[in-house]
Amino acid sequence: MDGMKKIKVAVLGATGMVGQRFISLLEGHPYFQMTDIAASHRSAGKRYGGAASWYLGDEMPEDVRDVVVKNIDPKLIDAEIVFSALPASVANDVEPAFAKAGFVVASNASSYRDEADVPLLIPEINPEHLDLIEVQKKNRGWDGAIITNPNCTSIVLTLSLKPLYDAFGIERLFVTSMQALSGAGYNGVPGMAIIDNVIPYIGGEEEKVESESHKILGKFKDGGITNAEFKISASCNRVFTSDGHLESVAIDLAEDADVEEVKEAFKNFKGTPQELGLPTAPDPPIILREETDRPQPRFDRMAGGGMAISVGRVRKDSIFDFKYSVLGHNTIRGAAGASILNAELFASKKL
Ligand code: NAP
Repeated sequence: MDGMKKIKVAVLGATGMVGQRFISLLEGHPYFQMTDIAASHRSAGKRYGGAASWYLGDEMPEDVRDVVVKNIDPKLIDAEIVFSALPASVANDVEPAFAKAGFVVASNASSYRDEADVPLLIPEINPEHLDLIEVQKKNRGWDGAIITNPNCTSIVLTLSLKPLYDAFGIERLFVTSMQALSGAGYNGVPGMAIIDNVIPYIGGEEEKVESESHKILGKFKDGGITNAEFKISASCNRVFTSDGHLESVAIDLAEDADVEEVKEAFKNFKGTPQELGLPTAPDPPIILREETDRPQPRFDRMAGGGMAISVGRVRKDSIFDFKYSVLGHNTIRGAAGASILNAELFASKKL
């Protein structure tokens, strides 16, 4: 991309938990120039610095502080790619309107993830699924397109499954998540509900984790995705951490392997973003921890700039073949960073 003109991008839902990550990660991006930010009518017309309840540890980038937030309307937005950090209920109508108007929508919302002609993209796992957008444009008569990234818990989980799936095959797995508060959005969980507490229910989350992983690990063939086949059961919990989802996985592989071989598969894993040297690609994408008590949210969520996942406690199990813990940053690798990596893959293919 050296010497190329930057691609104009906008963020929809820029004031929220994921939106703020977009603002932070897009600062000084080598491919993308942020030209517009938009949010609800509650924020539209205000300066970004006044509209967003900034929760990130890093300072709000100076150059967005005084930018006036726009309403979410394709006619008002000057960009080629729009990053969507909107609630699914809003994304339902907004994202197709943008795609129809010629924008490429890189979305975090769950609205279109399950549609047969919409890529559910993780560039390290299924970069070829991006070719679905040609099918989508033809099916829907759109000039633009919708590309989605999976749910935050699914991304962290499936990144850890990919090397095992390729090397040994997967028969079945059971995953228990311990999910951070930022995953619920700014107003998601009241303080009085979560302080000194764990909530053993996150609406719709277990179903998403169970269904998305089959599509993500599926094969693109003859213009469609053939889902991967394995049994999966998920149990999702909200815990009192700010960022970083920790997941415990117990798994049966299709082929025999020993602990060292499983660890090697995690350690040696690389994908297309690392080969292409995409700006947001972590290298390595999976960090294997050998300490008995890692990964932990506070210490490991920012690995690889928040884009790497950390795997640890790989060991034999008495019911399943193996078990391990995996951790990833939910609003970076699990949301805004994931969308940006998707857009980088799109941009690198296009150019
Ligand atoms: P959030 O903190 O609640 O932010 C929502 C954003 O959408 C805000 O910018 C809000 O603007 C805007 N918005 C809300 N209602 C709107 C409306 N009616 N019209 C226009 N804009 C509206 O939520 P979030 O956690 O960032 O999540 C955003 C999306 O990403 C959701 O679909 C979520 O499921 C998905 N996601 C989140 C995570 C995560 O870890 N948080 C991970 C993966 C995917 P105002 O500030 O003006 O209200």
